[in-house]
Amino acid sequence: MASNGYRNGTGTNKGAIKPLASSNIRSSSFKSRLPPSSNPSTGSALRRTSSASFTTATGGDGVPGRVRVAVRLRPRNAEESTADADFADCVELQPELKRLKLRKNNWESETYEFDEVLTEFASQKRVYEVVAKPVVESVLDGYNGTVMAYGQTGTGKTFTLGRLGEEDTSARGIMVRSMEEILANVSPETDSISVSYLQLYMETIQDLLDPANDNISIVEDPRTGDVSLPGATHVEIKDEQSFLELLRLGEAHRIAANTKLNTESSRSHAILMVHVKRSVLGEEVAIPSESDKSSHFVKPPKPLVRKSKLVLVDLAGSERVQKSGSEGHMLEEAKSINLSLSALGKCINALAENSAHVPIRDSKLTRLLRDSFGGTARTSLIVTIGPSPRHRGETASTILFGQRAMKVENMLRIKEEFDYKSLARRLEIQLDKLIAENERQQKAFDDEVERINLEAQNRVSEVERNFTDALEKERLKCQMEYMESVKKLEEKMIENQRKHLHDGFMKDKCNGEGPGFSEDIAEVKKLLEKETHMRKEAEKEVNKLKSQLGQHMDAGAGGDAEILKLQIALEDEVHQKKKLEEEIIILRSQMLQLTFEADQMRRCLARGGSGNAYPGLDSPMSQVRESLSGNKTPVSALFDQVGVQKILDLLESEDANVRIHAVKVVANLAAEEANQERIVEAGGLTSLLMLLRSYEDETFRRVAAGAIANLAMNEANQELIMVQGGISLLSTTASDAEDPQTLRMVAGAIANLCGNDKLQVTLRSEGGIKALLGMVRCRHPDVLSQVARGIANFAKCESRASTNGIRSGRSLLIDEGALPWIVQNANNDAAPIRRHIELALCHLAQHEANAKDMINGGALWELVRITRDCSREDIRSLARRTLNSSLLFRSEMRRLRIEL
Ligand code: ADP
Ligand code: MG
Repeated sequence: MASNGYRNGTGTNKGAIKPLASSNIRSSSFKSRLPPSSNPSTGSALRRTSSASFTTATGGDGVPGRVRVAVRLRPRNAEESTADADFADCVELQPELKRLKLRKNNWESETYEFDEVLTEFASQKRVYEVVAKPVVESVLDGYNGTVMAYGQTGTGKTFTLGRLGEEDTSARGIMVRSMEEILANVSPETDSISVSYLQLYMETIQDLLDPANDNISIVEDPRTGDVSLPGATHVEIKDEQSFLELLRLGEAHRIAANTKLNTESSRSHAILMVHVKRSVLGEEVAIPSESDKSSHFVKPPKPLVRKSKLVLVDLAGSERVQKSGSEGHMLEEAKSINLSLSALGKCINALAENSAHVPIRDSKLTRLLRDSFGGTARTSLIVTIGPSPRHRGETASTILFGQRAMKVENMLRIKEEFDYKSLARRLEIQLDKLIAENERQQKAFDDEVERINLEAQNRVSEVERNFTDALEKERLKCQMEYMESVKKLEEKMIENQRKHLHDGFMKDKCNGEGPGFSEDIAEVKKLLEKETHMRKEAEKEVNKLKSQLGQHMDAGAGGDAEILKLQIALEDEVHQKKKLEEEIIILRSQMLQLTFEADQMRRCLARGGSGNAYPGLDSPMSQVRESLSGNKTPVSALFDQVGVQKILDLLESEDANVRIHAVKVVANLAAEEANQERIVEAGGLTSLLMLLRSYEDETFRRVAAGAIANLAMNEANQELIMVQGGISLLSTTASDAEDPQTLRMVAGAIANLCGNDKLQVTLRSEGGIKALLGMVRCRHPDVLSQVARGIANFAKCESRASTNGIRSGRSLLIDEGALPWIVQNANNDAAPIRRHIELALCHLAQHEANAKDMINGGALWELVRITRDCSREDIRSLARRTLNSSLLFRSEMRRLRIEL
């Protein structure tokens, strides 16, 4: 039976609860320890003890026990989901840290710690286990135990304590579960359980098991301080069924009593007392024998009856009475209710602060609960709160009550601030710095490029100059050499000719012929050969020069490599610059986002109403109003600065944070009609559809779907969405998403498309209608409302087309099996859902081809109901007209004898 640290029971140190002997169970009650005069010698010490005793005894781990306090948050109800749709809850729970943050405003919150923090998803089983089970276990061990629920009306006190869970056993509350546990652990032969069930209203105790018994008095045992109600009915409980019947009976009497007194049960305290009597055997006592000290005589164990009491209190609503506008008798009543509740608060304060006086006698409630404050009782308090920011004040005071019960001095408060203005300032300064830095770098970069260019040019021209000089020199040298050789050759020739003439003369002189002539010829040949050789040499020289020229050219190429290096550096710089520009865009878009949020907030505060960022899910009126006012919002101004294309480029950034940020900015911008055209023109719709297709996490999907829903308000965009395959994409998302907010966006987008006459057929063929209907699996009222709107839009287009003779035959909605859901929800509690469905039914009924299916599906009854109950006159008369103009409906109504 041992349970976790929530239990504070069985330690053996001083002041701890010891296994009980029947006689001292109630010996350390509240009264016996207070006031100090009752025990003058140890006044202040006793006061401390009394405080510790309210907080029950010492825990097994040596930590002094105290009232254990859990806080439980009720989920949003349908009304809050609609009315507070655009507002965050006033609290944020951190169950793993056992912390609760209470929002003061958008930027500030206060943090509180509790023994348990139960979120709106906490199951009844878990609530029982952490709040009541340890108390029930100690009641079974013989201690008194109390579980109280405190909180504003409607926050779930009765849900937590009193639900019977007849249809669904998982919904059973603490009362039923406690009894189940007690029954499972007692033995029917030796133990007994009895129950009284009471209501405390205007300081009068009524018996809920016997309504005639309406003024029960509290009796206190002056010796033990024990509290009892001898006048109350005690019913013996044998099994769970009889207990459930008893609770049902009590509840019926409670309603009857409250009707008689013209009050509501939320104004009274309901108290269930479970008395447990268990037979236990005392310890065997060994008595030393007189004659022989070594042998022992063992006295048989004494049968004992262990009595304990479990008190479960569903307290009256803690709200301030002024708020509900009570007057006259109501004020008296308010005082009495407040008397008990405020006395309870005062006692808790006094005990928490070790105050000398604890005003226990000030009210019947505190007198009745004095046992719970006694040293032998273990007490758990569950404070229940709602999420609505409209009741922040009540929620705060409930939380403080719980905190005080935990002893105020232990309270942990963490103050966190989010100062939007200074963040915006910081971002602006950072942006300025980055812009300045960028300008500096740009300047340095341009200078560097210029310098490098100049240097490269200088080098190139130097190389060219050197090369030209060298070439010229070589050319001159060659020319000179060539001319010299030619000159030498000419001289040689003249010499030879002269010689030849002379030799001829001599030869003529001496027989005309001789070997001298052939020698000359050989000589000339030699000279020619030499010339040829020199010529070759010169050619070689020219080739050499050419190759030198080549080498110079290579040197030029070396210059090119240098330029290449410089070019790479240049590219690096360009890359750097681009990155800096990107950072500036991101910062600007962050500014954009922040400004957008501030703008939303400002508008919202100014209107005192909705700050909906997704007008695509509602009427476009607010938006029209905005654009008519003609003022350019700061967002649009920033949008102009940054440029749509740059923001869309960020959608493809490598950094996921940047991407998500960008998609949020696009979604926010798409909320304004003025921006939509630019977004679509720049390819934003395509990018958003791509994101939806290649989604990587839910936030992307949700935000992208929201942006698409906004764009889908516009007729031209609706067709674009269809052309780009958006319908089947939205349908796929509708079938595999689970997050209600994503589904709400998708349903909103499809609902907008349903209002376009040209898309009807494609919507069906690409699975849009099936997808819309499929989303009702998520029971979230926001999603259902969008589904209903889509159905109404679709039915309206169909009925228009039928009237204009463009279409005939049964509605596609009926073909797709929408009728049963429509009929089921025609009288939905949530007004927006009901209104859309009522309109859808009227549109469907306008076409005779649907009448047969509607009659068979029960829609006729709903239409008849609409003609009678609908709160809107125009819808009532539309329904009546529609029914009267249909032959089939008229004859069916005649058959059923229904008259409109
Ligand atoms: P109170 O105790 O303040 O009178 P109720 O227990 O009557 O409040 O709860 C008010 C409404 O809220 C009821 O319709 C109840 O079903 C619902 N409710 C309360 N708590 C929860 C919860 N934890 N989960 C779901 N519905 C809840
Ligand atoms: Mg209640």
